[in-house]
Amino acid sequence: MAIERTFSILKPDATERNITGAINALIEQAGLRIVAQKRIRMTREQAETFYAVHKERPFFGELVDFMTSGPVVVQVLEGEGAIAKYRDVMGATDPSKAADGTIRKLHAKSIGENSVHGSDAAETAKIEIAQFFSGNEIVG
Ligand code: ATP
Ligand code: MG
Repeated sequence: MAIERTFSILKPDATERNITGAINALIEQAGLRIVAQKRIRMTREQAETFYAVHKERPFFGELVDFMTSGPVVVQVLEGEGAIAKYRDVMGATDPSKAADGTIRKLHAKSIGENSVHGSDAAETAKIEIAQFFSGNEIVG
């Protein structure tokens, strides 16, 4: 399998509880390398752009409110099959359905406040990374 890059967000429920290091440890234990990382406060416009695919969904307003409610940590993760691997490490969107040992099983509070985001495909990974990082900020 090829070396890939995926985009990750440690969401406001994670920064609020000061568990970004615990989540990063799970990421690294899975063999993924954090090749870019910064802590930001997402603007409403950034969150609306980022989640535009969900704009017709009933939870869109709630999602944008949550993602702008506190600091987030945006990251680029690199590794063998990083996109699928990180989705596995994250676990299911709803923490009550997430497998044991996954980030969401261990840390997520609810289906909305679910601690992490990870890109779902190569094309979205590329777009999402470019929304938050310039090339010289990613050091593999
Ligand atoms: P993400 O895109 O954040 O990695 P995902 O791909 O597992 O998560 P999506 O279906 O893309 O899930 O939903 C995006 C985000 O919207 C979820 O991570 C969650 O924060 C929020 N969300 C999804 N479904 C609901 C819901 N029913 N109620 C509230 N929030 C939801
Ligand atoms: Mg998604």
